[in-house]
Amino acid sequence: SASGETFETRDPTTGEVLAEAQAGNSDDIDRAVEAAWDAYESEWANTDATERQRLLGEVADRIEANRSEIAKIETLDNGKPIREAHADVALVADQFRYFAGAARTHGGETVPSGSGKSIQTIREPYGVIGAVVPWNFPLLIASWKLAPALAAGNTVVLKPAEQTPLSVLKVMEEIDDVLPDGVVNVVTGYGEEAGAPLTEHEDIRKVSFTGSTAVGKQVMKAAAESVTDVTLELGGKSPVVVFPDADIEHAVRVMMFAMFYNTGECCTAGTRLFVHEDIYEEFMDAFVESAQGLQMGDPLDSDTRLGPKVSEEQVERTLSYIEQAKEDGARIVTGGGQPESEALADGCFVVPTVIDDIDHDSKPVQEEIFGPVEEVFAWSDYDEMIAQANDVDYGLAAGVITNDLSQANRAARDIEAGNIWVNHYTDFPAGQPFGGYKQSGIGREQAEETLDHYS
Ligand code: NAD
Repeated sequence: SASGETFETRDPTTGEVLAEAQAGNSDDIDRAVEAAWDAYESEWANTDATERQRLLGEVADRIEANRSEIAKIETLDNGKPIREAHADVALVADQFRYFAGAARTHGGETVPSGSGKSIQTIREPYGVIGAVVPWNFPLLIASWKLAPALAAGNTVVLKPAEQTPLSVLKVMEEIDDVLPDGVVNVVTGYGEEAGAPLTEHEDIRKVSFTGSTAVGKQVMKAAAESVTDVTLELGGKSPVVVFPDADIEHAVRVMMFAMFYNTGECCTAGTRLFVHEDIYEEFMDAFVESAQGLQMGDPLDSDTRLGPKVSEEQVERTLSYIEQAKEDGARIVTGGGQPESEALADGCFVVPTVIDDIDHDSKPVQEEIFGPVEEVFAWSDYDEMIAQANDVDYGLAAGVITNDLSQANRAARDIEAGNIWVNHYTDFPAGQPFGGYKQSGIGREQAEETLDHYS
């Protein structure tokens, strides 16, 4: 960093300092944006799609060749179970491969305009893209921005989250000789000091931000100052609906994934669960038993299913919502605090928690908790259930669990969410347009249309 300052990043399992990263500020952002423009103008803008395809394929190969080390770094820095970190890294490589291919087919069109004339449209890259990512999927979400931005012919300045800068830096080290200098620039640092100067920068042509809705609003306001285009992937409070015909065993399996994957630190986490009253008790017995059986512990252990949260601050946030729910008179069915085990005492662990008898209008239901906390509601009337499922500011994701195809289609249309999984959850294959509406964001990532957002 220009200032010479650094910040510490910690292992949330032990609390130990893992590394010091450069604390970038607006001077570093200025230098990075300049380097990105130099690379764009001198080289990248004139690179053929075939060459971009080859280079992005090489990026994917390098990531795969180093997958174990990258996954381990991600687990150490973020706390996610190692098997989930491996799943992330595989998706990252696939993301680069998908957009390597898509670069070859992305183009304009010819439209007849009458009188023997025709209109030709050409897709041009913007130039320099500013990308800001959060800490829950540090490398995966970075790839959702880098791969399409580069495939469309842009150069990028990327700011990782201050809690988790290491996996992106490791990948940059591995691909240093693949991409020309200045095509990707990473500035580590805090949101206010490095993120804000990037998203406010007048020479950025497009901002792609993933993070909280509160910061997303600031980013959008800043972008308005220079009339800069934005993609925003923001928060969620996603409903999952279990219909009375559902196979309960399967429904529980889906919900374990929907709620507790990545320690509940998923923007799409199915945190509001609507179970039909006819199967409520049977479902809850099985779900609570599974939640209590989740193996919590060292995320580097391949048997671990629930790791620590990313930081102490996030533990406090989760616990404060649980306290609020208790004060509001809700019932804590299981969990509700930190584990008692001595072995986990230094880590940022929160026990899987299930809450019911909670008012849907209350703060813990309306706001994102971003931890392993499920809020469950019994329903009987379809229309009332849908009205409640939609009664939040967010519209990111949802789930429907039923064997009745017509019912599934109807609910998928009635629920206000960008992505709706049926009998399934938390799946992010390249090619699936991902993103929300209402206050969950603007734009779609991971799919062919994403190239339009970067050109
Ligand atoms: P956050 O908004 O606090 O931070 C996200 C990123 O923005 C970080 O890199 C941070 O340093 C940076 N930042 C902070 N203040 C900034 C500012 N003023 N200007 C520019 N950048 C700034 O969010 P978080 O706590 O890191 O992540 C959790 C949030 O991200 C949750 O709300 C979650 O739902 C959301 N999220 C959304 C998606 C999605 O695709 N929709 C995916 C993952 C996470």
